[in-house]
Amino acid sequence: MIAYGRQCIDQDDIDAVVATLKSDFLTQGPQVPAFETMLAEYCGARRAVAVSSATSALHIACLALGVGPGDLVWTSPITFVASANCALYCGAEIDFVDIDPRSYNMCVDALEAKLAAAERQWRLPKVVIPVHLAGQSCNMLRIRELGDRYGFAIIEDASHAVGARYLGEPVGSCRYSDITIFSFHPVKIITTAEGGLALTNDHGLAQRMELLRTHGISRDRALLQGGHDEGWYYEQVALGFNYRMTELQAALGRSQATRLDRFVARRRELAAVYDDAFVEENLVPPWRDPQAVSSFHLYIIRVSDDSGEGRRRVYDALHSGGVGANVHYIPVYLQPFYRGLGFAAGMCPQAETYYRTALSIPLHPSIDADDQAVVIEAVRKAVRN
Ligand SMILES: *Cc1c(COP(=O)(O)O)cnc(C)c1O
Repeated sequence: MIAYGRQCIDQDDIDAVVATLKSDFLTQGPQVPAFETMLAEYCGARRAVAVSSATSALHIACLALGVGPGDLVWTSPITFVASANCALYCGAEIDFVDIDPRSYNMCVDALEAKLAAAERQWRLPKVVIPVHLAGQSCNMLRIRELGDRYGFAIIEDASHAVGARYLGEPVGSCRYSDITIFSFHPVKIITTAEGGLALTNDHGLAQRMELLRTHGISRDRALLQGGHDEGWYYEQVALGFNYRMTELQAALGRSQATRLDRFVARRRELAAVYDDAFVEENLVPPWRDPQAVSSFHLYIIRVSDDSGEGRRRVYDALHSGGVGANVHYIPVYLQPFYRGLGFAAGMCPQAETYYRTALSIPLHPSIDADDQAVVIEAVRKAVRN
């Protein structure tokens, strides 16, 4: 089966992990800070906080921004559930803004309309979490403008967009947001097995996230209240977690990050071949936003039959032909857990139409020309039947 996504591990990655395994530190050593510095510099952000997953990064990002009971957080329904769950971990409420039918990202016009309505009801969100679906940035310029007008903070869920660019700068610069989140799950652009990162230009937010990553415990004299100066002394000053990234993960991440641009270039090459191959098929190819350079975490095609049946047929045909297509994503609010909170079908019509027709076909740097030819033939055959 040709997987829709998978890691790309070479001998340098293996050597880096083995060397760290033989070193003095398996956790809380020099690799994590070095990985953080590397990615902060790559993105042009002041600070980076490495954690155990993008999910934990989203959680502590919300907490650092003060999200709690009584607060509202908004995100896109076309995302992985973690983008919404993070608000609920903090005791806040979640709501969803429909997507743009062309980019599949949060629709800024829908966001603007929903904000105007929310203002009249005194129910404005504290944080909005735009998700850069498939690696193509949302319209951050307008989301930032709306954030300034309505007073919400912004967390970019850039789990798909490591190595992507927006208006000439790396995604992760945080020029338009308070915090940007990366994921290093094996299907993402670079991997640390499990792992995530929170980038920010705000030292206070970075300090808060560092504290929450390690139980809320600090040895930083500036943060302590007790006035003690014993060498062993530390204080728990907040209710934190153990969300640390290990040294093995960070060593793998550092090694992977040296190939980040190559991975993205290869993904973009493969995407261009797909674009050309499917011109004659009755498929909607991914829209290329001229303001963005996508990292192409996913290559999403749209089948023309929007009953859901056509997509089902193509998915099944591809799987029987050894092509591991997948669907990203089921609208989050249609999950049984979210229906249990009161959400119902019909809430975001664009997201639901998208869901019935979208299919992600294999795209990752380990796909060679032969694999890609197999995928192209299988897709052509499946959509013509
Ligand atoms: C993968 C992903 C996450 C969660 O990442 P983990 O590192 O697995 O916790 C969050 N949001 C989006 C959009 C993702 O694709």
